[in-house]
Amino acid sequence: MRSHADPEVLAVNRRIREGLSQIFGPGTVATGALPGSGTLGMETGLANLVRRKDPVLILTNGAFGDRMAEIAPILGLEAHVLRFAPGEAVDLAAVRDELSRREVRLVAMVHGETSTGVLNPAREVGALAKEYGALYMLDVVTTAAMMPLSLDALGVDYAFTGSQKCLSAPPGLAPFALSARGRAALGAAQSWYMDLERALRYWEEGGYHVTVPVLLHYALAEALALALDEGLEARETRARTLYRAVLEVLEGLGFEAFPKGSRLPTVLVVEPPRGYSEETLVRGLRELGVVVAGGIGPTRGKVLRLGLMGEGARAELYVEFFRALGRLMRAPRLAETFSERLAARSEAALRSPS
Ligand SMILES: *Cc1c(COP(=O)(O)O)cnc(C)c1O
Repeated sequence: MRSHADPEVLAVNRRIREGLSQIFGPGTVATGALPGSGTLGMETGLANLVRRKDPVLILTNGAFGDRMAEIAPILGLEAHVLRFAPGEAVDLAAVRDELSRREVRLVAMVHGETSTGVLNPAREVGALAKEYGALYMLDVVTTAAMMPLSLDALGVDYAFTGSQKCLSAPPGLAPFALSARGRAALGAAQSWYMDLERALRYWEEGGYHVTVPVLLHYALAEALALALDEGLEARETRARTLYRAVLEVLEGLGFEAFPKGSRLPTVLVVEPPRGYSEETLVRGLRELGVVVAGGIGPTRGKVLRLGLMGEGARAELYVEFFRALGRLMRAPRLAETFSERLAARSEAALRSPS
């Protein structure tokens, strides 16, 4: 096993940093990957950008926003939580109202809520945070590497993801990025292990902090190369094209999209038609060899969640899904219908990449 300080591993780390700079986009001044899952990226942000007793504003409309709201008080932050109905996007007027009534050091939000399939208005919230002088932390677990991002354009000071989501690498690393303002806010971490300055000393200078999972570093470097080779625009088109084709066929069967607001292209959340429950569909599909997720948090027991992140956004997988669903719901030719719809959509997507 190569050591965490082996020159070859440090070269892999440089490749990772270059790749992540493109994933997080313009405005990224520091980047690396923490040894843990996506949630470590979340907790690390709250443990580094603000200090104990600092007021923070957490915007939530689902299970992962709620997770931020659970972490903040554990770290001794003065957490103000604005909740929005699951299925609806974060409402900007309410955010402005809250920011105009109290001073906060940080605004935190999830870009794409995995539990509901809603895409939140990241850029607009970033503009509000800036207007009111607050730092801005954005969970980009379901969007980074599956669409072009820019810390600059979104006004983000700290963003994070998980290696296993849109990069389809093994789980166990939490890539993160800081803006100049985010980096300047470091210096009083509430954790030794999660101290971003200490972590960055390793990523930037190779100095020992903790022993990193080197095999995961190799895998992440490869996953980044594959993603960037394909291109972030092309990956977004791949997800959006499949999303529309899958939803169209499901709507034909009586399924309904769960999000009322703006839709996240990488997680398609649907409510089953009358006469079918989440449980019977998830179990029936599993018996036919197809694994789909049910709801979590506010959608528990109510929906199917179909992943379109990274390698999840492949037509072959959805052909198998519709073959199984067709058997389960006694709907003949479902896989063929899907393939025809997808072909029509793909041609349209190629004609107008937007
Ligand atoms: C999966 C997910 C997380 C947490 O990631 P883990 O790797 O499970 O810790 C955080 N935010 C969002 C939006 C997610 O989908």
